[in-house]
Amino acid sequence: MSVLVWASDVVSTARLVTAARSLADSVDVAVLGGDVHSMHWVEGVNRVISLNPGTDIDTAEHQAEALAAICEGYAAVLGASDTTGKNALPRLAALTDRVMISDIIEVRDGNRFVRPIYAGNALAEVSAEGPLVITIRMTAFDPATQGESGDAEVRSVALSTPLARVVERKLSESDRPELGEARVIVSGGRGLGDGENFQRLLTPLADKLDAAIGASRAAVDAGYVPNDYQVGQTGKVVAPELYIAVGISGAIQHLAGMKDSKTIVAINKDPEAPIFAVADYGLVADLEDAIPELTEKLGA
Ligand code: FAD
Repeated sequence: MSVLVWASDVVSTARLVTAARSLADSVDVAVLGGDVHSMHWVEGVNRVISLNPGTDIDTAEHQAEALAAICEGYAAVLGASDTTGKNALPRLAALTDRVMISDIIEVRDGNRFVRPIYAGNALAEVSAEGPLVITIRMTAFDPATQGESGDAEVRSVALSTPLARVVERKLSESDRPELGEARVIVSGGRGLGDGENFQRLLTPLADKLDAAIGASRAAVDAGYVPNDYQVGQTGKVVAPELYIAVGISGAIQHLAGMKDSKTIVAINKDPEAPIFAVADYGLVADLEDAIPELTEKLGA
């Protein structure tokens, strides 16, 4: 059995290959538009297909169309369960009449998979017959080792005139690690009170720990920090070594995004806050006192 991995970004490709290899013995990787040599070369890949190299294939419509042009014969097409994957891959399933299976965390065998439901409070085993399109929850699979991939192949496909096009790209630049890849995350909630407090208290702590900064949806909705900081059911799903939740109550929608973290520390003034039920270490304290003290004790 052969499967196709869509390498939509460098970070996720190695994890996708791990998932793909637990599903099939032959794994090909497709790179859309970019340069095939720009990808991480990952061990255990049969072939790396570069589609229309040097062009931009950056709308979901075009990504689905490009994958549809090359996916015939593959038992499954796999992609990341991130905003790009969630946008393009259901379109691919519709275009090619494949069954869509979303956000899996385990491969049981060739057509049985496990996926979280009810914001991670239950696990469903799902199965399907026929060709599949699958999105993978990144935190559930370790990255495959980097090494020699198989053959490289360049292909060209004709794509339709797009209904939408990318006009401008504004990348937010930061010296901090990416939320999805960070070893440590310091995350703030409504308890911080406003954006100024959020920066004043959490930035020095995150700097000391070389941590990424996350937030609850309440903090994002109140404008303390930008949208892409949000952790949870409708934000990012993370699983760092250490997650420090500050002034976050621990609603199930937030827990859905961080409860697989290796060690969880919660700082909250309410001893009844649900976050303490999942925390490995809990500190019942006012964050105005606890955070500066903790930051100072961490030293230079
Ligand atoms: P609150 O629940 O208001 O908690 C603030 C906490 O701060 C309290 O526990 C309080 O005791 C503590 N606190 C206050 N002052 C201090 C102080 N001085 N010192 C110490 N502690 C203090 N939420 C997410 O986070 N991510 C999601 O992806 C998400 N998706 C959602 C999807 C849906 C469909 C729905 C309905 C909701 C979603 N939510 C999500 C919202 C979620 O239900 C909660 O409303 C939200 O997580 C609450 O954020 P919070 O913990 O920051 O705020």
